Amino acid sequence: MQWAADKTDSRMFNTLISRIKRWHDKSKSAESDSTVESSRPGSKHSPRPGRKKSKRSKNTRTVIARGDHCLSRRDVSRAALTVMKRLQEAGFEAYIVGGGVRDLLLGGHPKDFDVATDATPEQAKQLFRGARIVGRRFRILHARIGREVIEVTTFRGHHSDGEAHEAQQSEHGMLLRDNVYGDLESDAVRRDFTVNALYYTTNGFEIHDYTGGIQDIEQRLIRMIGDPATRYKEDPVRMLRAVRFAAKLDFDIEPGTAAPLRELAPLLRNIAPARLFDEVLKLLMSGNGERTFELLREYELWSHLFPDNARMLESPEALALTRQALRNTDTRIRSDQRVTPAFLYAALLWPAVNSEQKFLSDKGIPPVPALAQAAQKITSAQLVHTAIPKRFSMPMREIWDMQSRLPRRGGERAFRLMEHPRFRAAYDFLLLREDSGEIPTGLGQWWTEFQQQDEEQRLQMVRDVPRNGPRGSKSRGRRNRGGRRNRTNKGGDRPSN
Ligand code: ATP
Ligand code: MG
Repeated sequence: MQWAADKTDSRMFNTLISRIKRWHDKSKSAESDSTVESSRPGSKHSPRPGRKKSKRSKNTRTVIARGDHCLSRRDVSRAALTVMKRLQEAGFEAYIVGGGVRDLLLGGHPKDFDVATDATPEQAKQLFRGARIVGRRFRILHARIGREVIEVTTFRGHHSDGEAHEAQQSEHGMLLRDNVYGDLESDAVRRDFTVNALYYTTNGFEIHDYTGGIQDIEQRLIRMIGDPATRYKEDPVRMLRAVRFAAKLDFDIEPGTAAPLRELAPLLRNIAPARLFDEVLKLLMSGNGERTFELLREYELWSHLFPDNARMLESPEALALTRQALRNTDTRIRSDQRVTPAFLYAALLWPAVNSEQKFLSDKGIPPVPALAQAAQKITSAQLVHTAIPKRFSMPMREIWDMQSRLPRRGGERAFRLMEHPRFRAAYDFLLLREDSGEIPTGLGQWWTEFQQQDEEQRLQMVRDVPRNGPRGSKSRGRRNRGGRRNRTNKGGDRPSN
């Protein structure tokens, strides 16, 4: 998503701000204004009988009328509109909430729309053919409309209301299940940040705000709903989300929301690696990776996601390589080019792998097995923190392996290497290493030219490669010492012992 950089977006944002200002002025001058109230909004679907009003409720409901905000039904996907309509026709409430509302108010393009409703997942399921209830932690309905899947969540409630299903907590105090249902207000205060708790309904085209989200959008602040430390302890991933939204929206993290981050950062160790892998992709592969990385370091969260990268960052080359990899990823995403977690993970773990390989080589282990051992050790250590699915860890390893093959270009080798499915990634990786100052430049340029030439010129380039052309210093050292292997040796890269 492109943010304020775009002129249209900033114009839309200014329109929103001026509208909100007008609306603020109006509500100040009319204390009894009906758009500001503290009762539950009326709905066709009546609240549960005997339901007590939450003790925690200190929130004032603010309703921004159709003419006072810039969000239009036309900006919402057809699938989300269909889901809302069907729920409303069946007598339920239905709102778009979260990123959909937030991003539209800021003039961006939401990546998806989530719908919140007072229908239970089972009730909602009846309305959508082929819909599926998913999720263990939160039970969510996936409603498929055409090719789009809309997430439909039931309003969450407070556990202190004494509902039948108390939230279960892990030994670390994190919420494991949270399927206590509630109303719009209780749902709003269970969300993470005020800017994520704005509700838009096509029933009147209003925006409902219980937590001051509109004001925080106006002031460009990420503010936790409720007590930040308590909410982070409930779910430490919220710490990552605070940083993610701050980086993505170019917002500040409100001081109270930022205050507990450094102290509570170690709680990330209690999160399942698979969930953290998903979060890492959202953090680093959404077009704002470099800014997100800097913020994660600032709040000392990075070392709990990528400890082996974090400990290498004192080396200027490792820092440069990490930053450059993230910057390249951001650029590629912005220009709709393909990106893969395999490449990013290869870059993030490389400084540690490279250092471990050197350590093992210094102990006398030949380069190829040293690299294999180093790769194994650093990858296994990373898996404790964030998972790396096999479909990414295999190509990651190949990218590393190819680094020692790219210098060897004699005979048929250069031609064969170029046919390798991982050649392009390995070549990009080589350029990254050169750009970061880890290795001298030269080889990358050779490969750039090789790819641009015709067959005849390529053959000439290969013939011109000096017999002891640029190679990894370790391997050259061993070769010279051993003096047994040469370019035609079929043993190739095989270790000599
Ligand atoms: P985007 O989809 O652009 O990344 P989003 O705000 O829509 O941002 P989602 O992860 O799609 O984020 O979640 C949808 C909404 O669900 C959020 O806006 C927020 O209101 C709520 N939410 C998600 N995760 C949490 C959480 N860990 N704790 C509390 N509320 C959450
Ligand atoms: Mg979303």
